[in-house]
Amino acid sequence: MSYLGVNHDKCILCGVCVDSCPFGALKITGKLEVLDSCRLCKVCIKVCPEKALSVAEGSLTKSDLSSYRNVLVFAEQRDGELAGVVFELIGKGRELADKLGEQLNVVLLGHKTESMVEQLSKYPVDSIFVYDHQELTYYRPQPYASALEDLISHIKPSIFLIGATHVGRSLAPRIATRLRTGLTADCTVIDVKPNGELVQIRPAFGGNVMAQIVTPNHRPQFATVRPKVMQAAELAPSHPTQVIYRELEPEKLLSNISFLSIEPKPKETSITEADILICVGRGLRKAEDLAIVEELAEKLGGMVAVTRPLVEAGWAPQTRQVGLSGRTVRPKLFIACGVSGAIQMVAGMSGSEYIIAINKDKNAPIFEVAHLGLVGDMYEILPALVEELGRTLTKSKESR
Ligand SMILES: Cc1cc2nc3c(=O)[nH]c(=O)nc-3n(C[C@H](O)[C@H](O)[C@H](O)COP(=O)(O)OP(=O)(O)OC[C@H]3O[C@@H](n4cnc5c(N)ncnc54)[C@H](O)[C@@H]3O)c2cc1C
Repeated sequence: MSYLGVNHDKCILCGVCVDSCPFGALKITGKLEVLDSCRLCKVCIKVCPEKALSVAEGSLTKSDLSSYRNVLVFAEQRDGELAGVVFELIGKGRELADKLGEQLNVVLLGHKTESMVEQLSKYPVDSIFVYDHQELTYYRPQPYASALEDLISHIKPSIFLIGATHVGRSLAPRIATRLRTGLTADCTVIDVKPNGELVQIRPAFGGNVMAQIVTPNHRPQFATVRPKVMQAAELAPSHPTQVIYRELEPEKLLSNISFLSIEPKPKETSITEADILICVGRGLRKAEDLAIVEELAEKLGGMVAVTRPLVEAGWAPQTRQVGLSGRTVRPKLFIACGVSGAIQMVAGMSGSEYIIAINKDKNAPIFEVAHLGLVGDMYEILPALVEELGRTLTKSKESR
């Protein structure tokens, strides 16, 4: 891997390179520092009067690899609340750490973190590393990346897992670049070989291939994991957990972004949180017919989800799309109506507890993942279901 190397013995800190860098990627902080915005354009190399800069090639040696141990999980929080994916990462992280006979550690960044630390310590975590600073209250890429870089260079984890959320997707590549290691985004399966090599599996080529990615020469082995794909950890209140507070130098907390005000978005329940989902596909003839699906969802206390063609037709928002390019869901009950079961769609729902499929084509692939299949016309089955549910609900109200 190529990077900009600085020969600090030759560098006289004249600042010519800093002024010439089109990406603002050089900084003098006692010594010349190369920031992660460096694009290796080589302008600085040309202007340096002391020939102190050059393109360097770097890779870690085997002995470097052996100095990395343990699994680290990023505990993402928003407004003092831990993201659901954190508990899924703890579940997976614990499994990996146990397989390797190593520790599972968690890192939490934020402000007024006490209740989150308490919550995390009820899970099977060995150590919680906390950076509690006002500047870390909300996600800002620079200080967050600096804190994680600080911790990783200190504890040297062999494996680092982050949720593939909006924050995770912004943060993970920054840290991977700073640490000059690889990153596998959006993993759906993760395992570890006895030699400690992390096998990072994710769909590729539109979901037609499951790519297995390893990071043989660099550490940490670094992956983002989609929410709702892994099983959440069980509580383990008797598991001993150590809490370690760490400080960050004030200049590392600086950011070009400041919060002027926070406007809370109206809370929309996400399909990823629903226990019951009625997912409708291209079997639906027109947008108005969504009403019958919505009625069924209402009767069952669930939500309506859709396949991609319905989003493309403008019949539903993208936030309702299940699948590879939509959301991954794991409800207790998933009813697929007029859905063929394309691989890209199934990738987002196959972890559902119970799947019912309604399709008029008995050979539709959706029946391969369904626990119960109804071969028939959804335009006949759905109204009948709604009517029957209506009768049952009225009866149960009367008998109360
Ligand atoms: C890179 C990539 C990413 C993708 N990501 C996603 C994704 O995230 N989510 C997604 O959904 N798709 C995704 N797709 C598209 C995917 O390949 C399929 O095209 C899509 O899932 C098909 O949607 P469908 O099942 O609604 O439609 P169709 O495949 O057209 O199936 C419609 C089904 O309805 C049945 N049907 C028709 N009428 C009735 C009726 N009256 N009663 C009962 N059954 C009926 C038919 O028999 C058929 O099986 C992606 C594709 C690519 C290439």
